Amino acid sequence: MKIGVLALQGAFREHLTVLERCGAEAVEVRQPGELEGIGGLILPGGESTTIGKLMVEWDLMETIRQRTKEGMAVYGTCAGMILLAKSIVDSDQPRLGLMDTTVRRNAFGRQVESFEEDLTVPELAGGPVRAVFIRAPLIEEVGANVAVMAQVNGKAVIARQDNMLVTSFHPELTGDDRIHRYFLSMIKQE
Ligand code: GLN
Repeated sequence: MKIGVLALQGAFREHLTVLERCGAEAVEVRQPGELEGIGGLILPGGESTTIGKLMVEWDLMETIRQRTKEGMAVYGTCAGMILLAKSIVDSDQPRLGLMDTTVRRNAFGRQVESFEEDLTVPELAGGPVRAVFIRAPLIEEVGANVAVMAQVNGKAVIARQDNMLVTSFHPELTGDDRIHRYFLSMIKQE
């Protein structure tokens, strides 16, 4: 199974490593043509304004939108989650806008650079998921078609809508591959 990782900016290399460890063929995506033959795409963490601008510049917005609507699975971590959201509080930055969510950037306060938390995720067997949050966004609101899979302080930090998955933290940093494996299982179901 060929999985793409958007490789414009941010933590894309770590995702390639995890995907390979999970037995997937991982490829870097920088141009629309590189989306061909890909079953799933990871939008990594990084700086969502920079990634969004580069997506516009590299002509990727419309192709990714189209492929996702056709059923390609997409997983957005952190900045990737912001890029998938329909609504971003106090921001008009470029985005895919495919997921029925309202997100708030840097939602834990700018002074909280990063922290870790154990999350209860009923869909994932094997105990709590250790989550690393880095200048993390939160999902403030979700539409009726969005399933919340984990929360921190009553706010969603893992959510799924059909073939789209988002986490506000960075699972590629902990060595726990369960979220990536869950994402790969979404693709097999397509
Ligand atoms: N704060 C970043 C943004 O708003 C996201 C941080 C991250 O991806 N770790 O784009």
